[in-house]
Parts: sequence; C-alpha cells; structure tokens
Amino acid sequence: MSDVPSLIDTHGRAVRDLRISVTDRCNLRCVYCMPAEGMPWLPKGDLLTYEEIARFAGVCLTLGVTGIRLTGGEPTVRADLPVLVRMLGALRPGLDLSMTTNGLKLVAMADELRAAGLARVNVSLDTLDRERFHRLARRDRLHDVLAGFEAAKRAGFRPIKINAVLMRGFNEDEAVPLARWAREQGFELRFIEWMPLDFSHTWSREKLVPADEILARIGDVFPIRVAHGEDPSAPATLYEYLDGGGRVGVIASVTRPFCGHCDRIRLTADGQIRTCLFSLKEYDFRRLMRGGGSDDEIAALLKAAVWRKEPGHLINSPYFKQPERGMSAIGG
Ligand code: SAM
Ligand code: SF4
Repeated sequence: MSDVPSLIDTHGRAVRDLRISVTDRCNLRCVYCMPAEGMPWLPKGDLLTYEEIARFAGVCLTLGVTGIRLTGGEPTVRADLPVLVRMLGALRPGLDLSMTTNGLKLVAMADELRAAGLARVNVSLDTLDRERFHRLARRDRLHDVLAGFEAAKRAGFRPIKINAVLMRGFNEDEAVPLARWAREQGFELRFIEWMPLDFSHTWSREKLVPADEILARIGDVFPIRVAHGEDPSAPATLYEYLDGGGRVGVIASVTRPFCGHCDRIRLTADGQIRTCLFSLKEYDFRRLMRGGGSDDEIAALLKAAVWRKEPGHLINSPYFKQPERGMSAIGG
C-alpha cells in the first residue's frame, strides 16, 4: 500500500476519495435532480462492468486513494451490487467503502451489502411528510425509505448519515423536523445546498436554501456550535448540539465553496473520470481499458487528469456554465 499520494494537482491538493457511479438509472425522480420523464439513460453496453470498475479502483488505491463511495443514479438498482462491493472490499482489507442511496431497496439489500463489506451508508431524505415526499420524489415511497433506515440500523451500519436537500417553496421548513427526527434516531444529518446540476436546468439561486438560513432555523430550536477537529477535506461543516444531542452538518457548496480542500474524483457509470462535479471535460478510461490499456497507462492518464484538476467551481462567477450531464449521471 502506498502512503505517498501520487495523485496531486497543480494546486497542491492530493486525491484520496473516489466516487463511483454504478448506474445513471434511478427508481425515484427527485425534482431537484431529474425530469419526470424522458431521461436519456446510458445504453447498457456503455456501463463499465464490475471487473472494469474493480480494476480501475485497484489502480487508484495504489496511487493514494483511501476511500471509495458508491453512488449513481441509484446504486442499488444495478443488478448484483453486493458482488461489486465484495470485489472492491477484496482490493484492500479495511478499505473505507461507503454508499449513498435513496434507501428504497435497503430492506431487501442492507444485510447482504453489509456482509459483502460495505462499511457505511448515507441515505437521502428530504421530508418526513408523505404527501410532500410524493411531490418531491414523484413517487409515493416515503414508507420504504423509513423502513430502509431501520434495515440499515439492524444490519449494523454505523454511522448512518442522512443527506437532505432543501428547496424554497417545497421543503425549506423541513430543517427542524428533520433535525429533530435525526436526533431521536441517532443519525447524523447533513444538508446539501441545491447545486446547478439538475438535468432540467431549473436551478436558480432564489430556490436554493442557503446553509446560514438552515443553521439559523435549527439553532433557534436546538442550540448548536461549530464542532472542532474535523477533517478539513470533508465537504460538510459540522456543528454539535449544545445539549449533547449529536451533530448536524451543512455542505454549502454554493454559498461557502470548499474547493480549496477538495480531494475527490468521480468515475461515471460509463467510465469517464471527472475531476470536479462541474468539470466540462472528461477523461475516457473505458476506451483505454477496452482498448487493451495496461495498469501503468491507466495510472499515467489518471495522474495527468488529476494534475489538471480545476481550482474550483465557478457557480458564483458570471462565466459559470452548467455541465451537460446532471448529478445522477455524474455520481453525486
Ligand atoms: N440516488 C442516490 C441518492 O439519492 O441518495 C445517490 C445519488 S444522488 C445524485 C446523491 C446525492 O445528491 C443525494 O443525497 C441527492 O439528494 C443529492 N443531489 C441530487 N441532485 C442534487 C443537486 N442538484 N444539488 C445538490 N444535491 C443533489
Ligand atoms: Fe434518484 Fe438520487 Fe437523483 Fe433522487 S437524487 S432522482 S434518488 S439519483
């Protein structure tokens, strides 16, 4: 195992975190992510096979990557996901292997995923109100998500984190109810600011609920203070409840960008590496692997890609251009 990071960019940042999108497909249609209909899914043959994903991840581990997160789209809709988890786990004992999921399939899969070596899960939940969930996710499935949390608990996942996105006019008043519920359940809640990465290009600054507002709403009911001693490359700024009720975080990508500490790259389901969520350029590793490229060639292209990693996103600049692909295709 190499402790010396070889994936360094021109701004001195080292890549440690690999996010792998295993599919662009999903069993929900959250309004901040996808249109109700007409998603242009990737053809099946374009998806990396599990062997290709594991091979690529193995090269990344030799170059200083220490954590892998599975995401999508909805990772659990890809067939036989535990097989991939097992293959990735076998690459290195004790690898920090996690997954972001909408939770719908956890009742069926939590035990198997845990047994395969998945260590941690983040489950997305934007509202505790059934009718609102239906409007937001365009499917009446809140009960399945809540059952999924229970299944994740029973399977032994610790910690279990909640990802929540708030949108003005939809669920901005859910900050406190979600915080209360997460405290009661012993889950760590983090709010992600809505980013201009939706397929339908409906994002607007007015509809974004900024982190400061979310924290003020929560702090009015449950006093909080900044939690110290956190990993500076972690995207969430964490706060602790003064009454000892745990922690809550904000991922304020828009209003408090943390690009200077970014340590991530993303592998799309069709084998492209993106060095930023907002990259306008992708590096084609599927073509390299399917064309007979060696591990050394994979490593060389990856080093070259990371070297050119963007200094930061330009959401707050007049030159910002929303990438063609949305969050679900990139891998959130
Ligand atoms: N389907 C899984 C899920 O929803 O958890 C994993 C993929 S989803 C793209 C990963 C995370 O990104 C979710 O927590 C989701 O709420 C969040 N997300 C999706 N679109 C977003 C956007 N435009 N801005 C900010 N977060 C977004
Ligand atoms: Fe699917 Fe996740 Fe996007 Fe919702 S946020 S539509 S669950 S990929």
